[in-house]
Amino acid sequence: MTRDLAFVGVHPESDDEIRIGISACLLGEEVRYDGSHKRDRFILGTLGQFFRFVPVCPEVDIGLGVPRETLRLAGSEGSVRLVANRSGADHTDAMIAYSRTKSSELRRLDLSGYLLKRASPSCGMERVRVYDENGVPTKTGQGIFASVLLEELPLLPAEEEGRLHDPAIRENFFDRVFGYHRLQRLFREKWSRGDLVRFHTGEKYLLLSHDQEGYTELGRLVASQKDSGREELAESYRERYMRTLAVPATKRKHVNVLEHMSGYLRDVLDGDTREKIRRAIEDYRSGYVPLVVPITLIRHYVELRGVEYLQGQRYLEPHPKELMIRNHV
Ligand code: SF4
Repeated sequence: MTRDLAFVGVHPESDDEIRIGISACLLGEEVRYDGSHKRDRFILGTLGQFFRFVPVCPEVDIGLGVPRETLRLAGSEGSVRLVANRSGADHTDAMIAYSRTKSSELRRLDLSGYLLKRASPSCGMERVRVYDENGVPTKTGQGIFASVLLEELPLLPAEEEGRLHDPAIRENFFDRVFGYHRLQRLFREKWSRGDLVRFHTGEKYLLLSHDQEGYTELGRLVASQKDSGREELAESYRERYMRTLAVPATKRKHVNVLEHMSGYLRDVLDGDTREKIRRAIEDYRSGYVPLVVPITLIRHYVELRGVEYLQGQRYLEPHPKELMIRNHV
């Protein structure tokens, strides 16, 4: 396997660690209102091999202590407050001020993603219960910390732990996390315009599996790079790149990409092998095998035949295989 195709495992403690912010209770820290935790085995066991976690408990950090009163969101759209259930104490202003300061601190840590605890009035990303004046809840809210964090760091890939069980959401989240990290690495170092062109070329099929229009726009941006300053170019590329990856990849788009890639193999494979690849793509399209099957086959022949154009394509291995992101049917 060539180095270009291999996912270069980034282990915590290495110089190039991937940092993920996380609600501290998901790591098993006993910071919940009753002193319990919400340890998540997938996060700790599987993801822990590849990421350095940066745990944050906003409620403890604003001084509420453990144990503490439970909190809830109360009010209506536009005027949602974070209040204590029993005493009615209002912690909204303290939480907003803290969240702004903490977001600046996290920005300096160069996080590549964030995992939030679902349903929490502080950390929940969506569908958090908001109680009206009669005590009737609707699932329309967003935790106060989460809402400030996402406003301050709008490109940061964020997801709730519960939603990671959905294979499509998981794929989309990790495509963004690893993509964001590659981009951060590129722009962190001294980069040349040629480096950006090379980066963009290697991301082609991954971007196409998300959004063709986004890929085309990024291509125009890179091609017209001489018109803009480097900082401005990096900013625009980063923003458009992350928006492109945020468009969910679909089976139809994956099939398109696979067919394009297999087209490049046409001249270097015999008829039987081409047929084998065609059938693998067809089986994936029909839902008989997971995406990893045709991709593994194509990657094998790309390496075997040394198909240069495809060898650097990140699409062939955008994340570590141990995460098994493309293994569902
Ligand atoms: S959900 Fe957030 S605020 Fe609540 S215990 Fe977990 S980390 Fe702390």
